[in-house]
Amino acid sequence: MNLPLDTEYKIIGHDCLVDNYTSCENCSRVICNIATIEDTEGHKYSVGLDCAETLSGIHALDIRETKRLISRTRKLIKFIKKEAQTAFIRENTVWLYKYEINEWQSTWIYRLDINKYKLYRDINPFIKTIYASK
Ligand SMILES: [Zn+2]
Repeated sequence: MNLPLDTEYKIIGHDCLVDNYTSCENCSRVICNIATIEDTEGHKYSVGLDCAETLSGIHALDIRETKRLISRTRKLIKFIKKEAQTAFIRENTVWLYKYEINEWQSTWIYRLDINKYKLYRDINPFIKTIYASK
């Protein structure tokens, strides 16, 4: 399947898969770095960055920004997989630490939204989780 060229697209999100792959909805090649794009009618597609770059409406700057976000997410995933020891959760925010803590401390390495954390937390079942008491 090739995406229609008579419409404009914009990048509305990104994803990177861990130990997993999917296929680009434009060229069918295997990808693990994904740009989520949307056309003018609201149809959404998951495509590789190489393909996204060729589509009308998407600019080099958008690609660069998406690459930056993906690279940041990859670092986060690596941290969760290899270094994170404790996750401290208060409402919708998660703080990650590289050692065990029993209460919130300012020495966190990552602070992120709970929904983003939920995407990747299963990578490492050994992370100790603490919920803030109100
Ligand atoms: Zn592609």
